[in-house]
Amino acid sequence: MEKIRIQNFINGEFSAPVSGAYLDNINPATGEVYSFIPDSDERDVELAVSAARAAFPSWSMMAKEKRSAILIKLSELIQANLEEFAIAESIDNGKPVWLSRTVDIPRAVSNFHFYATGALHVSTETHAMENTALNYTLRTPIGVAGCISPWNLPLYLFTWKIAPALASGNCVVAKPSEVTPMTAYKLAQLCNEAGMPKGVLNIIHGLGPKVGMAIVSHPKVPVISFTGGTKTDETIARTIAPMFKKMSLELGGKNPAIIFADCDFEHAVKTTIKSSFSNQGEICLCGSRVFIERPLYEKFKLALIEEAKKLKVGDPLDEKSKMGAIVSKPHYEKILSYIELAKQEGGKIVFGGKSVNPGGKNANGYFIEPTMIEGLSYDCRTNQEEIFGPVVTLTPFDTEEEVLKYANSTTYGLAATLWTTNLSRAHRMSALIESGIIWVNCWLLRDLRTPFGGMKGSGVGREGGFEALNFFTEEKNVCIKF
Ligand code: NDP
Repeated sequence: MEKIRIQNFINGEFSAPVSGAYLDNINPATGEVYSFIPDSDERDVELAVSAARAAFPSWSMMAKEKRSAILIKLSELIQANLEEFAIAESIDNGKPVWLSRTVDIPRAVSNFHFYATGALHVSTETHAMENTALNYTLRTPIGVAGCISPWNLPLYLFTWKIAPALASGNCVVAKPSEVTPMTAYKLAQLCNEAGMPKGVLNIIHGLGPKVGMAIVSHPKVPVISFTGGTKTDETIARTIAPMFKKMSLELGGKNPAIIFADCDFEHAVKTTIKSSFSNQGEICLCGSRVFIERPLYEKFKLALIEEAKKLKVGDPLDEKSKMGAIVSKPHYEKILSYIELAKQEGGKIVFGGKSVNPGGKNANGYFIEPTMIEGLSYDCRTNQEEIFGPVVTLTPFDTEEEVLKYANSTTYGLAATLWTTNLSRAHRMSALIESGIIWVNCWLLRDLRTPFGGMKGSGVGREGGFEALNFFTEEKNVCIKF
């Protein structure tokens, strides 16, 4: 079968990169090249920014109902092609197809629908100064938004950015991760049918340091929304801070899952397995440090091991696979190196710890067992650095103070999970854990209206709900004296 040659989408048309060069796109479940990605550079970004700037006046002035209708149509088209998108996402990323079918692609549909309708309900404030003046706030679209997203939830996170940017009247130049470009390419194929005017959404493929950097450093892109690693962002933030751009940063995590002995045991075990190993542990919200109150430690650990045994690792397209392939060879090697590091740091592998060879067409794919490690200190590297794979550590604790110290000890602060039936403790701990998101007796229960994002090294700003719509607008106060 001829391999697909992905194209950039600029000004409503598909085009080859100016360089004419392409990169290999590898299927992580087979290790084989299965398509080619444009190796774009600043020249492609320049074309995209020009197209977006030209489209901005009419898109930003368009009645919001009309913009909304176009975005809703786009969401309906993704829905109509859900199975095709789900398979494409699974092949590109390595995630089980049932997961992309039930989570990733439906969420991309919801992202467009949510922001298309949300933008209709935006209101602004007035501040009356009695008998003197009236202040009212205007919110206007900013211009060209640069949106850069990672590989772990490719279409899900890509649309989570571009939907609010577009709904609030901006034009977009977006770059999906070069590791997982396929569903963004497929999305571009629906834009014209949805009635999206030319130049409103432009998608450029290629490498982060080349294309990503060209977007973030472009003087005519005044607003940047980035999701990715904390290290990558250090470079980005250094570049854009002196340019005074608006920025929203969703970064890495090293999330604690805190299990108290009074938890609902069955529910806590089953959900902790999900929060540890869903999507091969490649979700920024996965709990990678499991802290268990000492009286429950052994029982909880054994139950986790029993559940982990049921997680079949294998072909992402096989409906029976609970875990698929790790996204890329470098990432697979990085995860395995962390398992080695954990052993050197004195950790004992209580489950997994090795790569998996499912054989057949997947013999050269990148598969790793769900892995649990105990016996590590809370402040060792394994417990401080983001691994972003199916690897969790188990650590006992005795008191709330102790586990708070452990939980808050990293430079990250994205999400935490707390398991207890003691309501007072749930409130007390929630207030003290340094995380932007706290899930009590649940995990990944999402209401798209809520603020989403992290503290400390996990990010700056919040996505979700009106926060995102506000982020993509410029706020202006008008004061009228009576
Ligand atoms: P990276 O930081 O490597 O990449 C993220 C995006 O940035 C990719 O599109 C990448 O392109 C691009 N990029 C890389 N270098 C630059 C640069 N110098 N300038 C501009 N853009 C650049 O992250 P990963 O893709 O590896 O994703 C995993 C990370 O994302 C983890 O740390 C995870 O925790 C975090 N994440 C955070 C989430 C949150 O909501 N807080 C959600 C999901 C993931 P390319 O791929 O081509 O290099």
